[in-house]
Amino acid sequence: MHETALIAEVLKTVRQSALENNLPKVTKIKLAIGKLSMALPEALIFAFQVLKKGTICEEAELEIESKEIILQCLDCTQEFRSQDYNFSCPFCARSRIKIIQGRELHIISFEGEENELGSNCGSTLIKSQ
Ligand SMILES: [Zn+2]
Repeated sequence: MHETALIAEVLKTVRQSALENNLPKVTKIKLAIGKLSMALPEALIFAFQVLKKGTICEEAELEIESKEIILQCLDCTQEFRSQDYNFSCPFCARSRIKIIQGRELHIISFEGEENELGSNCGSTLIKSQ
């Protein structure tokens, strides 16, 4: 299943980054999921609930930011949102297009709690990109 493999990869990346940043516990993970990525948010959440058990993300919540499909026409250079997966330009009716947004599938950020030995308490936000 596509979503399970994806979440396994997310957990691996987050775990590695959390260890590097001395965060023993992850509290929140935020993902950007484009509407063209073919990943279903419900399936991602389900896979997350199953796979996070026994990891440092066990108590974390998953937040999904759904990204609209934004296209650009290569003929008239206008940018537009795709309606009903219609890939032709609403300005000049041609269909030579470039996908600007909608295919992404990545971690936006995650938050974790620092080690109690650390001088700072509270949560830390790490940007992945
Ligand atoms: Zn056009």
